[in-house]
Amino acid sequence: MNNELLRKLPKIDELLKEKEVQNAIDYNPRVLVVEALRESIDMFRKEILSDKIQSLEKNQVLNYALNLLSKKNRANLRKVINATGTVIHTNLGRSLLGEKAIENVVTVAGSYNNLEYDIDSGKRGSRYSHIEDLIKKITGAEAAMVVNNNAAAIMLVLDTLSKDKEAIVSRGQLVEIGGSFRVPEVMKFSGAKLVEVGTTNRTHVYDYENNITDSTGVLMKIHTSNFKIYGFTEEVSLEELVSLGNKKNIPVVEDIGSGVLIDFSKYGFTYEPTVQESIKKGVDVVTFSGDKMLGGPQAGIIAGKKKYIDLMKKNQLTRALRIDKMTLAALEGTFRYYLDEAEAIKNIPSLNMILCSKEDVKKKCVKLKKKLQNKIHWLELTIDSDYSMVGGGSMPTEKIPTYVIKVKSDKLSPQEMEKELRMGEVSIICRIFNNELILDGRTLFEKDFDTIVQCFSNIKLV
Ligand SMILES: *Cc1c(COP(=O)(O)O)cnc(C)c1O
Repeated sequence: MNNELLRKLPKIDELLKEKEVQNAIDYNPRVLVVEALRESIDMFRKEILSDKIQSLEKNQVLNYALNLLSKKNRANLRKVINATGTVIHTNLGRSLLGEKAIENVVTVAGSYNNLEYDIDSGKRGSRYSHIEDLIKKITGAEAAMVVNNNAAAIMLVLDTLSKDKEAIVSRGQLVEIGGSFRVPEVMKFSGAKLVEVGTTNRTHVYDYENNITDSTGVLMKIHTSNFKIYGFTEEVSLEELVSLGNKKNIPVVEDIGSGVLIDFSKYGFTYEPTVQESIKKGVDVVTFSGDKMLGGPQAGIIAGKKKYIDLMKKNQLTRALRIDKMTLAALEGTFRYYLDEAEAIKNIPSLNMILCSKEDVKKKCVKLKKKLQNKIHWLELTIDSDYSMVGGGSMPTEKIPTYVIKVKSDKLSPQEMEKELRMGEVSIICRIFNNELILDGRTLFEKDFDTIVQCFSNIKLV
């Protein structure tokens, strides 16, 4: 420990008189400036106490504080660059919005709007009216509404149709999604009694039928979107369930999870059931997420028979689960693209990235590699083929052929490089595989290439 250095440690009051600090106070909240100064002093005190430094200048403390200050001024929720290749990355905010959706959000966020005002009649309107016709047109459903997310949608559906009654579900479909959503637990919250039928690998239509009683509220089908089981398996098809439901006069509810609205098998992907198909097969109510394969904002969409949707609109729970004007604006913009499939694919970033050809991804990689090579001379870069994932618990077995840039350096290990890129001014989130740092071109945007180069050049080599 060095007493002399400790005495040299500046006091806050002293630093506050410095010109740079006065200047900083003019442009930043004073409370953050003081906090940064205090943290900087504390940091240097610790360094002295543990004999980590042998000299100290006031400027060091000042510069460290100003650096802290610039970090404190950044938004906590902020942009990152997704180099993982996982398109619908739940940790990174799932889907990005298309331009129309963003425009709509910006407009309604900063202006009064007709959220609950019917312009034609000059009377109070419904917030759901702005979106219901669009969803009906696109999915073929009789009626629709939207809530906060798909978990909320399922809660509302069960609360409305199966409160204090039994909801019959196959054991093979009791899924957990991302830790925070477990079908059995959501059902418990709703007050529906879960009746599990069949086995993990096989459930037959008679398993449902034999368990129907006077207190059965719904027959439920859940799309096992984030895992697949193979081998000796059997699932009851939606058609069979619908025909049983019709026979017994019990509504059939399907949680389709991701909410696919275009047939991906046309584009070489394994077949994923679409919302339109469920409606066509006669499902009474189907629910899906807004921010997975649909490519919109966080929301839960409920579509189906009008008599059931009407009951949900009247349920008091709807008030607690209702979505905000910004979400509605984004959802409308997203759904409008779906009026023309080609437009949807072109303009909805999640769809666009999933369907981007391997060759187009390669072109992006080549461009970025060139930019990096021109500026950052300590990197060793190679382009290689690899696989991207859809993510968001959607299409779990789908490996999308892609191209990646593999980054090596004799200056930094892949782990050190990953950390530097993550902790930089703009975070780049990458993956490490086989001790190599990997940037997947699929989830990168050309507009970010200069930023990416800047992030690499900000790395200080020791
Ligand atoms: C993702 C998912 C949910 C949860 O949806 P959120 O919109 O995240 O609430 C529910 N069920 C299935 C099958 C899912 O894939």
